[in-house]
Amino acid sequence: MSTEASSTQSARLTVLAGPTAVGKGTVVAELRRRYPDLFVSISATTRNPRPGEVDGQHYHFVTHEQFDDMVTHGDMLEWAVVHGQNKYGTPRGPVDAELKEGRPALLEIDLDGARQVKKAMPEAQLVFLAPPSWDELVNRLVGRGTENEEERERRLATARVEMNAVHEFDQVVINDTVARATDELAALIGITR
Ligand code: 5GP
Repeated sequence: MSTEASSTQSARLTVLAGPTAVGKGTVVAELRRRYPDLFVSISATTRNPRPGEVDGQHYHFVTHEQFDDMVTHGDMLEWAVVHGQNKYGTPRGPVDAELKEGRPALLEIDLDGARQVKKAMPEAQLVFLAPPSWDELVNRLVGRGTENEEERERRLATARVEMNAVHEFDQVVINDTVARATDELAALIGITR
């Protein structure tokens, strides 16, 4: 399997965003499983690792000071405060390097970040991962059980805002099943088999 861009489409940056708990992480994990060579940006974040999360693999876990230094030095392609709490950002260097080599790159970031990328790189493709319904989104968030009630409420409030931004995106993929949503996303990224 190759992650070279197909000949009909030059390598481009794809940004995957969507409301909290819609399953972005699961779809991206499936994409990586199928296409281990696909470049998926590893974000920097000031939040603490969850159990099982590995530094440099899931995120670069950094202090607020380290994060602010990266921003000051222009090392972030985009960054945002997510859920009114922690900072998350995309280190610019690895993304630029990948695109320069003609290979597609994928970012999984929040709405704010997606907007910043579109402004900086209008050729980027914004893909919105949507739940089959609002009720299903609430079920997924509660079912995940990784947040306490206060955190859940905060994330649902963000999700409501994010759902209303769907029209800003170039493509919408409904996450009804992981396999189908992954097929669709792979096609949009332009991965050739
Ligand atoms: P979590 O804390 O659940 O891992 O992620 C919370 C949110 O942060 C998700 O909606 C995710 O898309 C967003 N996020 C992760 N990395 C980045 C990033 O580099 N930039 C921005 N803007 N958002 C990010």
